[in-house]
Amino acid sequence: MNNQTLERFMGEVDVSPVAISKALKRPSNFIYMGGDERIFDTWVYGPVIETRDSDPVDRSNARVLVKMLSERYPDEYYTTDANHWGVGWVTHLCYRVKDDSGNATSIFRFISAWFRYLKEVYAVADEMDLSELESEYCGECGEGLNDEGKCPNDCNEEESAEEG
Ligand SMILES: [Zn+2]
Repeated sequence: MNNQTLERFMGEVDVSPVAISKALKRPSNFIYMGGDERIFDTWVYGPVIETRDSDPVDRSNARVLVKMLSERYPDEYYTTDANHWGVGWVTHLCYRVKDDSGNATSIFRFISAWFRYLKEVYAVADEMDLSELESEYCGECGEGLNDEGKCPNDCNEEESAEEG
């Protein structure tokens, strides 16, 4: 991820009062039971960044994003797991959209710029992290490899054996 482009996108985020209200709008048919009073007031119950069925790219992007947020904005975000009827579980990203003066927060700009970058520039946030992550999972079934680097489902047993 190119920092210069990210910074430029951060400067281009729409932070008008309308955009802020839109970001904080409660989706229809959504029942929030998390008990965080800041949600839909100044914080957004935000995007799904990972699900049980996420592919390696999404998993890598999610953990790179969370790592960057933990360094830049440690007190202005958290992730929360929710059960989902279709995909087992999903991880939502909650973050602060509006500061005490009613202005858009820097984390709001950052996250908006981040997703725009993935969409418009390149879908992988960090190639190094992605290849690291891919080496931890079975390429065949997606299961996490054990300490010996083998798939618990015994995929590729024959392929990885010596030819002949
Ligand atoms: Zn496997």
